[in-house]
Amino acid sequence: MESPAHPHPAGSTVAADLTPQCVHCGLCLQACPTYIELGKEADSPRGRIYLMQARQRGRLPVAGSFAEHISACLDCRACESACPSGVPYGELVEQAREVVEQQLKRPFLVDALRRYVFGWVFPSPRILRIHFHLLRLYQRLGLQALVRGLAALKLIPARLAGMERLLPDLRGRAAPVELGAIFKSNGATRFRVGLVAGCVMNEIFAGIHHATIRVLQRNGCEIVVPSSQVCCAALHAHAGITATAQEMAKRNIQAFEQASVSAVIVNAAGCGAKLKEYGALLAHDPEFSSRARSFSQKVVDISEFLDGLPALSPPGRLELRVAYDDPCHLLHAQRIGQAPRRLLQQIPGLELLELQYPDQCCGSAGIYNITHPELSMRILERKVEDIKQCGPAAVATGNPGCLLQIGQGLRMADLSHIQVMHPLEILDRAYRSESFGNGRNPD
Ligand code: SF4
Ligand code: SF4
Repeated sequence: MESPAHPHPAGSTVAADLTPQCVHCGLCLQACPTYIELGKEADSPRGRIYLMQARQRGRLPVAGSFAEHISACLDCRACESACPSGVPYGELVEQAREVVEQQLKRPFLVDALRRYVFGWVFPSPRILRIHFHLLRLYQRLGLQALVRGLAALKLIPARLAGMERLLPDLRGRAAPVELGAIFKSNGATRFRVGLVAGCVMNEIFAGIHHATIRVLQRNGCEIVVPSSQVCCAALHAHAGITATAQEMAKRNIQAFEQASVSAVIVNAAGCGAKLKEYGALLAHDPEFSSRARSFSQKVVDISEFLDGLPALSPPGRLELRVAYDDPCHLLHAQRIGQAPRRLLQQIPGLELLELQYPDQCCGSAGIYNITHPELSMRILERKVEDIKQCGPAAVATGNPGCLLQIGQGLRMADLSHIQVMHPLEILDRAYRSESFGNGRNPD
């Protein structure tokens, strides 16, 4: 079923007020990228919680500083890792954004574009695929080169121009994994698992899916890619478009229930974090609350799954200096930091390097680099400088947004010789004993 959902629904989560858990100690401030960059209390986790409380007490309207500072949050959840009181900041900011979404009046065109993208494109793999076909055509016919060459980007709205600049080179990429496909294990089958295809992940980074499938096959897994799955709805939940997120979550739960798998495997950190939170997203739905909890319990990040087996050691050597960068939604939301490092460390010949600040956001944060391009670039510059000081041949990170953002940052800093890869691509190459060199960053 691919019926579009309405992005401005009347429905809403029935949520308890969790802000009193914050004791305003400020221990999270130095973990917050927006506070580090802007130095303003209102752009810190504590400041945003004050704003949430002021709004709840009727002392602050939604339009104005409340909407502005809530939307300037990356939702990176570094503050959650730093908080000694266990404040569930991710949940708080999504609740606040739901209020903004329902009450803020946006210009007609912005509103129409949001309705189209969130309500029609992302909930439908078929419509999303059509858009990516059009983008490929735009690049293949040389229109992109023409637009950039004629400086036509200066003539269109800044945000649209920013989106165009971020557009990766889609030519020559691996074909998406077909929904409905089943991949047999190499040898005896130990597990039947489901693969989350995702939205952007399957259209831009299908090569990572193919690497993931090959690694799972070698480790005795039969992989099912349920045909009726849709985007995980993380973008919707982060934007406060809760009812659409709930509808999409239900479709995914049904899709994976029908596939009868023992684990739901995801290789994109942002998607994994949201899929593990379906239990909370549907907590008040009488039909789906317990099904959502069961589903979420089956969701595992690919690094967590392979680390737990444990995965077979690669037979050959791979001489490569790799710096691992933690995706925020893997480290802070899922609390997974060591599993991907262990997977990389088990590759003979690979030297694992530590960045100085691997736990700091790269500024991608879903569509933050589109909604807040200037701040996103400032945060990215810190990440690129950290990588430059570390001097790896490759950076490994397990999230599509981070792959794109770091790749763009390295290109802008003339550091394109540093490859940006998903840890599973590296592991797959080690299994296949492929040599590096002439590698290409995700564009
Ligand atoms: S969110 Fe946590 S760390 Fe930050 S001010 Fe509140 S209690 Fe302190
Ligand atoms: S989620 Fe990230 S950007 Fe937002 S308040 Fe927390 S640390 Fe700051």
